[in-house]
Amino acid sequence: MTVVDRHDAGQATDAGAGIVCPWVDHEGDDAWYALAREGALYYDHLAELLAEDGEPETSHARVGALLVGDSPAELVPDEALLRGRRPEAPEMGEISVADRPAGLFPPLAPDLAALYLAGAARVDGQVVRDVLLRAAVRRGARLLTGTAALTSSGTALLDGSPLEADAVVVAAGAWTGEVCRPLGADLPVRPLRGQIAHAVLPGVETAGWPLVLPRRGPYLLGFPGSRVVFGATREEAGFDPRVTTAGLAEVLSGAVRLAPGLGAATVVETRVGLRPATADGRPLLGRLGDGVVVATGLSAYGLTAGPYAGHLAACLVTGGTPPLDVTPFSPGRF
Ligand SMILES: Cc1cc2nc3c(=O)[nH]c(=O)nc-3n(C[C@H](O)[C@H](O)[C@H](O)COP(=O)(O)OP(=O)(O)OC[C@H]3O[C@@H](n4cnc5c(N)ncnc54)[C@H](O)[C@@H]3O)c2cc1C
Repeated sequence: MTVVDRHDAGQATDAGAGIVCPWVDHEGDDAWYALAREGALYYDHLAELLAEDGEPETSHARVGALLVGDSPAELVPDEALLRGRRPEAPEMGEISVADRPAGLFPPLAPDLAALYLAGAARVDGQVVRDVLLRAAVRRGARLLTGTAALTSSGTALLDGSPLEADAVVVAAGAWTGEVCRPLGADLPVRPLRGQIAHAVLPGVETAGWPLVLPRRGPYLLGFPGSRVVFGATREEAGFDPRVTTAGLAEVLSGAVRLAPGLGAATVVETRVGLRPATADGRPLLGRLGDGVVVATGLSAYGLTAGPYAGHLAACLVTGGTPPLDVTPFSPGRF
């Protein structure tokens, strides 16, 4: 197997926050919900596989989530959705009213209403990407840096020269449309920019803090190393992977409004990524002609569903039957 990556500025995986909590989203789209849910579930199996390959540190941690609002009434629709889904998705864990959310995430404003969802998890996208690549290399993959392209007959090229391949998976994120164009496909994948900030609270142990998912405004995640992540903007800005003053202002002011205790945190890093979004909001996962499979369009859920989508793409490209029906994600719908 050969992996070609151009490492563009704006790679979404490099910037992703790491929320793995699919049960509160995708209302009205059962196929997308099933993919995201299976993606969250897949992490346990993936951790076993990676441990066998000598990569036990996946960064996946089930820290729970606080769904927060200004009043309990605001959280009623979320609670109804979760309780309706829980019989089929027990992995979401217990759902309970958190009387004092600041007891779990100390910087939070004291007067918020909150539901606690025990099964939510977080990952570090950079770690997941790197362990997967290292494990692939151990299994014989080679990693190349450059621009991959396809000819009209589906032949793979690396920086303009032929690259031998029995089959190709195009997982080029927001850039996937450009890669597939020579095949005569006009896939409506566009970049949805996300800016995100990382801060440190010196001396504070933040690794076990739950995700904070507000009804509106930025979410918050605790990570090891006293780190807290505030994100993220959702912007139609084309292929423009810049951190802007307005973007940062939106994220930082929203985060501090939600959690005034973060006001004194040290901003240590900003990141920006281009989420691959499709015209109808659904992923693209399926065959595009002979020997070419497309796997993209995971938009804001690619860290949740990406590894599992990769597994499904591998099934398709090796002629196997994917364990989830991928017809709703077929590129043929465009
Ligand atoms: C700020 C932010 C926060 C997010 N938070 C979350 C979250 O909390 N939870 C969650 O589940 N998801 C989250 N996401 C979404 C998730 O990060 C993305 O859906 C996912 O990372 C997309 O992965 P990808 O591999 O499809 O695309 P990318 O990570 O963008 O990778 C595409 C790669 O293809 C390469 N490429 C493109 N064209 C070519 C070419 N012609 N030749 C060679 N290489 C090429 C690029 O250089 C790039 O490295 C977030 C995203 C952002 C930006």
